[in-house]
Amino acid sequence: MTSAQPATAQALIWRDRAQALLDERRLDGRALIDGQRMDATDGQTFAKHSPIDGRALTAVARCTAPDVDAAVFAARQAFEQGRWSREAPAARKRVLARWAELILQHKDELALLETLDMGKPIGHSLNVDVPLAARCIQWYAEAVDKVYDEIAPTPETALALIRREPVGVVGAIVPWNYPMLMAAWKLGPALATGNSVVLKPSEKAPLTASRLAELALMAGLPEGVFNVVPGYGHEAGEALALHMDVDALGFTGSTRVGRKMLEYAGASNLKRVFNELGGKSAFIVFEDSDAIERAAQTVAGAIFFNQGESCNAPSRLLVHESIADDVVAQVLAQVPHYQPGDPLDPHTAMGALVDESQLHTVLGYIESGRHEGARCVAGGVQVRAETGGYYVTPTVFDGVSNHMRIAREEIFGPVLSVIRFQDEAEAVALANQSSYGLQASVWSAHIDRAHRVARALRAGTVHVNQYDEDDITVPFGGYKQSGNGRDKSLHALDKYTELKTTWIRVNGV
Ligand code: NAD
Repeated sequence: MTSAQPATAQALIWRDRAQALLDERRLDGRALIDGQRMDATDGQTFAKHSPIDGRALTAVARCTAPDVDAAVFAARQAFEQGRWSREAPAARKRVLARWAELILQHKDELALLETLDMGKPIGHSLNVDVPLAARCIQWYAEAVDKVYDEIAPTPETALALIRREPVGVVGAIVPWNYPMLMAAWKLGPALATGNSVVLKPSEKAPLTASRLAELALMAGLPEGVFNVVPGYGHEAGEALALHMDVDALGFTGSTRVGRKMLEYAGASNLKRVFNELGGKSAFIVFEDSDAIERAAQTVAGAIFFNQGESCNAPSRLLVHESIADDVVAQVLAQVPHYQPGDPLDPHTAMGALVDESQLHTVLGYIESGRHEGARCVAGGVQVRAETGGYYVTPTVFDGVSNHMRIAREEIFGPVLSVIRFQDEAEAVALANQSSYGLQASVWSAHIDRAHRVARALRAGTVHVNQYDEDDITVPFGGYKQSGNGRDKSLHALDKYTELKTTWIRVNGV
């Protein structure tokens, strides 16, 4: 792998490992259906290149409707036969817990695949993506035999049992920014509650999905319960979303495609659709904040993490005009820490954008910001082009107004827009003037203001004086066009279960 900078010893080790994977042709882009690795029915593939340096990684199965049919059939068969769906929760727990262990045991391999596939720094794949995916599976494993059903407070002449039952076959369609983790957020609750799953990973980062499914088989998950169909959205994705035998769809991706999911459900079997979509989160710093330096560090860390390719990235920094110059100066002091580097170097803080098209999208937004009159005060350029990969410097725009495209649309790149406000009412109005409502952050030393503003913000999660806390125990999802579903926490179980009431007559009362 080429790089503009001298390699550290650890980077050399990871580069050697990557080279060995390629030389020994150990990358496997095939589907996994009914417990078997397989090519697409018509033998079609597409080439997957690494955004790190543009090199070809492997051929990936280009699944289409017949492959999706086979995967859904296998999933339905497994469900009806009860090999998983009718297992006791404690038995499912043991298999899922083993699977989580295996994910951790294969941490290096999975992290390397993820980094090669979508360009994030290896340190993040190792310390964030793999452990959080394993933790998610483990948490739902442990939760599922502790969730009780209900008995309704009916008259004594009858007993009404309210039980959760698995919905059946779940289609999961996920994006490329956290491929393993977004898959785990669907797989954990869906499998723990006894469903079968057909997973369609993004064509931009498909490699870890089938490997996860292989590890699940090794852990004892019955064949057919978890199937993977790589391919394009308009082919494999559309076929899955339109399928008449899919009972529920867990979708994470753009708002544009989320709209289509609702149309597909309406055009097919009215399957339940849970959309987890985009964001344009506001990070509000008030003049009474006593933690301005930490606020600047936090917003920089959050917008530049994962190359800005995070749905909840705080891409709008709203600052009171009296402290704005100071806050911007402190954000700019953070920028040097996030210069893009070799994603295979564990010291790298920011890696490559996922592909050339995303590079052009991000550069296009930077151009539009300049064109609309915002001041680019940091970054704004492509770098490391000599590597053959796709890198953009951390970028800060000052003097942004909320109607500019860079303030309204999700860029999904390392671009921060600074918007100044005059008072609390204006800050809340600006934050809420967005079609999205995923997350927000409020920085104030006054608890009344923090509560008041947190309550007024139309967002699924509001942080106060921080942005980085996150845990599998809390729901993740948005208001408005950020979606309708909630991943994580016990609330996610609702998406993958039907509520059934059974009335029983009680004689002789
Ligand atoms: P995308 O919508 O382009 O694609 C997501 C998935 O949908 C991919 O697997 C893709 O192949 C598939 N797809 C595309 N067109 C389809 C179609 N016509 N029919 C069926 N499937 C189709 O999104 P992306 O670029 O992969 O991911 C980035 C988006 O994901 C951003 O908007 C980001 O905010 C969002 N996201 C949201 C969350 C959340 O929890 N809210 C988390 C991560 C990412």
